[in-house]
Amino acid sequence: MSKKIVIAGAGIGGLCAAVALAKRGFEVVVYEQSQQLGEVGAGLQLSPNAVHVLQALDIADKVKAKAFRPKTAVMRHFRTGKTYFTVPLSDVATEKYGADYLHIHRADLHTVLKQSCEELNVPIFLGQAVQSYHQTPQNLTIQLANGESLEAGLLIGADGIKSKVQACMFGQTPAQFTGQVAWRGVVEANKLAKGLIKPNANLWVGPGKHFVSYYLRGGDLVNFVAVQERSDWQKESWNEPGDINELRDTFSGWHPEVTELLAASEQCFLWALFDRQPLEQWTDQNVALLGDACHPMLPFLAQGAGMAIEDSYALAHCLANNNNTIDALKTYQDIRLTRTRDIQRGARKNASLYHMTSSIERAKLAVLSGLSSIGLSDKVAENKLDSIYEYNIVDRLNSLP
Ligand SMILES: Cc1cc2nc3c(=O)[nH]c(=O)nc-3n(C[C@H](O)[C@H](O)[C@H](O)COP(=O)(O)OP(=O)(O)OC[C@H]3O[C@@H](n4cnc5c(N)ncnc54)[C@H](O)[C@@H]3O)c2cc1C
Repeated sequence: MSKKIVIAGAGIGGLCAAVALAKRGFEVVVYEQSQQLGEVGAGLQLSPNAVHVLQALDIADKVKAKAFRPKTAVMRHFRTGKTYFTVPLSDVATEKYGADYLHIHRADLHTVLKQSCEELNVPIFLGQAVQSYHQTPQNLTIQLANGESLEAGLLIGADGIKSKVQACMFGQTPAQFTGQVAWRGVVEANKLAKGLIKPNANLWVGPGKHFVSYYLRGGDLVNFVAVQERSDWQKESWNEPGDINELRDTFSGWHPEVTELLAASEQCFLWALFDRQPLEQWTDQNVALLGDACHPMLPFLAQGAGMAIEDSYALAHCLANNNNTIDALKTYQDIRLTRTRDIQRGARKNASLYHMTSSIERAKLAVLSGLSSIGLSDKVAENKLDSIYEYNIVDRLNSLP
């Protein structure tokens, strides 16, 4: 069987896996359906658990040079601005978790990963969609959408939420519309009153909606994600334009930090949020899934890209430490399944808290608000985030027997 590893998808997960594998000496090629690797999406929050991997791959400094390091994560009431909790980030996070908490434009992270692939001589073929695969104990054949086929030793499906590799493995997991949409956009910071946007991960929560804003590119850009419960929009695409006036109307009456940011925004994108049940299996002999292809998650813990990054490192480590590919892929799946499933579920739960959906959630917020006035809510929030941020996949794998 060929030794070549084929990765379907040049997103964050696919490129990060390509770097991790090439650094371990594997022969890797990437096939990407898009004709060009463009500036899709907007900001990403990269918590220390993901940054540990970037450090191990020697690209953390390049990422940091293009990123913004927030001071705190703060959750506030949508209208009054009353603080529910503040979790310290910047130096406190770096010291506590051993890696930075960063905000980065997706395109900037993508550029760093792409450059790293170039330095490692990993070819990226654009405009080449992987359609399906067929395998016997002796051969793995990958079919491309253009009718060509190729032989490989291993196929990694890093082809995102509508993964063709997953569809070929078990049939596509049905997606359920959550009844929520996310509006996204970026605004140049110099178009806003100085000091309007605080240098934090700013989260505003209100009935049926929440709003997140933070700086990118060293403070030159402000990114926003506005989530609304709404059932009349079901397109799941990063590139669907939204109506900025409609977005402004949707959040009218919110705190001036939100409304003034939207007033200065010229365009936005609209993305329907779908949910999928966690998978029980991610591998099929010499084929494995990674990132959104196996654990797409709602963005309410800001961990989707982080989990794809953790997966990449784990996959490369398992393959480098086991000559039997099928066993290595099983170990990879065992290491990653529970972690990603817990985070998928945690993200889902946050939606109801942020949107004050039920009387229980409203009571929780009232408790947080009460604890905040005596200085205790910060600790509650910090403890909750610790289990996500303090996880260091690099150390964990290195300490395995
Ligand atoms: C509103 C919103 C905000 C978010 N914020 C954050 C955040 O702050 N932090 C965070 O960590 N995550 C965040 N996420 C999640 C994060 O964007 C995803 O989890 C992450 O991009 C997944 O990476 P991936 O490589 O698995 O998939 P993708 O980034 O989707 O990449 C898949 C790639 O595969 C290509 N492809 C698809 N099909 C094929 C095929 N058949 N053949 C070849 N190529 C193919 C696609 O073109 C694409 O390039 C957010 C998501 C949303 C919706």
